[in-house]
Amino acid sequence: MDAPDVLAHSIAAPALLAPRGEVLVRRLLEQLGEDPQREGLVNTPHRVWESLSQLTSGYDQDVMDVIGDAVFSESYNEMVVVRDIEFYSLCEHHMLPFFGTCHVAYIPDGRILGLSKLPRMVDLFSHRLQVQERLTTQIAEALEEAIGPRGVGVVIEASHLCMMMRGVEKQSSRTTTSAMRGLFQTDPRTRSEFLNLINGS
Ligand code: ZN
Repeated sequence: MDAPDVLAHSIAAPALLAPRGEVLVRRLLEQLGEDPQREGLVNTPHRVWESLSQLTSGYDQDVMDVIGDAVFSESYNEMVVVRDIEFYSLCEHHMLPFFGTCHVAYIPDGRILGLSKLPRMVDLFSHRLQVQERLTTQIAEALEEAIGPRGVGVVIEASHLCMMMRGVEKQSSRTTTSAMRGLFQTDPRTRSEFLNLINGS
């Protein structure tokens, strides 16, 4: 019940030299009624902390780290679409995974982006505690800022374990979010071309 006391107690525990995150995971295991010393759990705090650090590694980078010098001058002015970018993120309300596919499109205005950078941008923002709505918007805004295109469209379809495993337990429901900027917002033909392309027609 008393958080500061709980912390002081766990820091005095055998794992004195363990990173603070590992100490907290060990304490969490105790709170769940587990014995962190039993064989199967002895290295679990270390593994959980490593895994959580990796899944939230997007805090340590910004978009320019990812894009680097992969912006190219090019007169191509049709739609560029990268569909079915797989992603895994953690919902910020339960710290449970949500995952699915992200479709990103843009219409260049003199500059294009190396294609491999789009999945890396998706990773950058999904490796943070997120809500799907913000993830969608951040990808669209980052692309807009990076190359100033005539329009950007981002659609994310995801399954949320916090809905599937607990709460309403709707295993088959998927959530779709979209962010449209520029021509994707103002021109219905552009938007429907994008939506047709990602729906495979
Ligand atoms: Zn959640």
